[in-house]
Amino acid sequence: MTMAAAPAGTATRLIACHDCGKLHRLPVGDNLHDYKCTRCRGGLGTLSCDLDPPIALLIAAAVSFLVANTMPFMTLNIEGIAQDSTLLSASFALWQSELWPLGVLVFLVATVAPAIKICGLLYVLLPLRHGRRWPLAGRIYRIVGGVRPWAMMEVYLLGMIVAYVKLVELAHIELGIAVYAFLATVLFEIAAEAKSEPMAVWHRLMPQADPTMLQGTPGSRLLSCHSCRQLVRVDAEAQHVGCPRCGASVHEGNPDAWKTSLALLIAAVVLYVPANVLPVMTVFYFGAGQPDTILSGVIELWHAEMYPVAVLVFTASILVPVLKILALGWLIAAKNRPRAVALTKIRVYRIVELVGRWSMVDVFMIGILTALVHLGNVATIVPGPGALAFASVVVLTMLASSAFDPRSIWRRA
Ligand SMILES: [Zn+2]
Ligand SMILES: [Zn+2]
Repeated sequence: MTMAAAPAGTATRLIACHDCGKLHRLPVGDNLHDYKCTRCRGGLGTLSCDLDPPIALLIAAAVSFLVANTMPFMTLNIEGIAQDSTLLSASFALWQSELWPLGVLVFLVATVAPAIKICGLLYVLLPLRHGRRWPLAGRIYRIVGGVRPWAMMEVYLLGMIVAYVKLVELAHIELGIAVYAFLATVLFEIAAEAKSEPMAVWHRLMPQADPTMLQGTPGSRLLSCHSCRQLVRVDAEAQHVGCPRCGASVHEGNPDAWKTSLALLIAAVVLYVPANVLPVMTVFYFGAGQPDTILSGVIELWHAEMYPVAVLVFTASILVPVLKILALGWLIAAKNRPRAVALTKIRVYRIVELVGRWSMVDVFMIGILTALVHLGNVATIVPGPGALAFASVVVLTMLASSAFDPRSIWRRA
């Protein structure tokens, strides 16, 4: 729905589409519709929502997150020797190996980012429920939005399942209370996400610009904040201005953003080679070890008749990174195409943004296996340099897609 669809007499606010920049008029107080952009079919969100369900779910998530991070996680038993672990063991085991940057990365995306997300959201939403704003709420809500793609608890959960399936053949595994608490945290978080409306929260933090903003002084431009989508008037001489709502710098969009994107993508392509050629981990069983690459790991799972897990790891670790690199290359390279192609491109961009992080499954699995299988001569799993290269590919492609400005598709179209 757009300008024409808002019934006459209802209060409306101006909002620019995040993906293409087209300006729309949204009615205030209508929480039944998810409005779509008329140009690119992107969701515009709604300006009102009930804050109670997401707050309740986030409190539940905070409690279960605390339990998951303090209670026993898994216990492995091989030939009578037991190895305990906690949720932080995977990060710590990688930190202690030669691949310490991998330990830092796993700690950031599996522990720090989810904690920032849960605490940040509660800090913003709890007082907002009573119409109050705590200091820096706008900036904190913006940071939470930036952290969101890097909070990978659900991906970690999948890595946990793959690690479990791989181990259950050769050892006895006891699941601790932290595993169930972790599962609960993921479910609470997904439900909270489904129940929350970021545009409505922004509108409560500071009302979205109204149609009087359309009349401005000669030469000034109406720009949309890329973080919170508030509309800001920028004088003719000014290059950029600070967003009054979230503090981000509001500017016309960097026409050279694609160069940053391309540089990151090239780095990812280069690292893709060692990621697939070098071993990602070595399993030592009674002294004898066999290094595994990503592909040989998949083949091994297939031969062990664990078909669903083999297909899952193949998709997440081989198919998704290749498709993501090809898709990003196409988004960056193709120029001056008709509107139909632009629509396809924006769909591809949205899929790329959504699926990229799932490639971290293998990295998490390696971390969990390294932490658990640490039994001296009986059985030890050591991470390989391929894992670090692979994790770098995933991070670089995520950075490349976030550096890419989707509005550039429409400027060219
Ligand atoms: Zn749009
Ligand atoms: Zn803003």
